[in-house]
Amino acid sequence: MIVQFEKRCPKCGHDRPVTDFPKNAGSPDGRGFYCRAHHNEANAASKARKKAEYEAAVAELSDSDRARLGR
Ligand SMILES: [Zn+2]
Repeated sequence: MIVQFEKRCPKCGHDRPVTDFPKNAGSPDGRGFYCRAHHNEANAASKARKKAEYEAAVAELSDSDRARLGR
């Protein structure tokens, strides 16, 4: 088994110690794809995107749907 001490964050573009990567049980090496800083950034971006999608979906609703949802 190869123990990895460094891995590359695609956003940083250079190798960082694996301890800079958040733990991720779903990943083959047990660490996240991005370093901590960029992991948080990616999370915030996907959260913002989901919120925007939700707002857009609400905006598409008919008046009766909106009334039903209390919007
Ligand atoms: Zn990074």
